[in-house]
Amino acid sequence: MKHKHSRKPAEQIRISKERIEELFRQAEKAAEDSRMDLANRYVTLARKIAMKFKVKIPPKLKRKFCRHCYKYLKPGVNARVRTHKGRVIYYCDNCRNYMRFVIRKK
Ligand SMILES: [Zn+2]
Repeated sequence: MKHKHSRKPAEQIRISKERIEELFRQAEKAAEDSRMDLANRYVTLARKIAMKFKVKIPPKLKRKFCRHCYKYLKPGVNARVRTHKGRVIYYCDNCRNYMRFVIRKK
């Protein structure tokens, strides 16, 4: 009996999600070293994987980059964060746009 080694879509999704998380970890490290150019590149790569395999970027990682210009956001460096009426508001210094997230209630 022939055994096919084709990857199951579920596994492919799991792998691409892991790669996305890893890329964001790398981006965070790069940003800590003030290598924002490198951090932005990791975000671009993560987004490409997400698009290619049609996986969603986890919500916790979505606030790590600007949804307008896709730059990695580091509060205090190129972003400002504040909370207002149960929402977290991010202000991107790169493109001067806002992002709003509802704070999840437990
Ligand atoms: Zn921006």
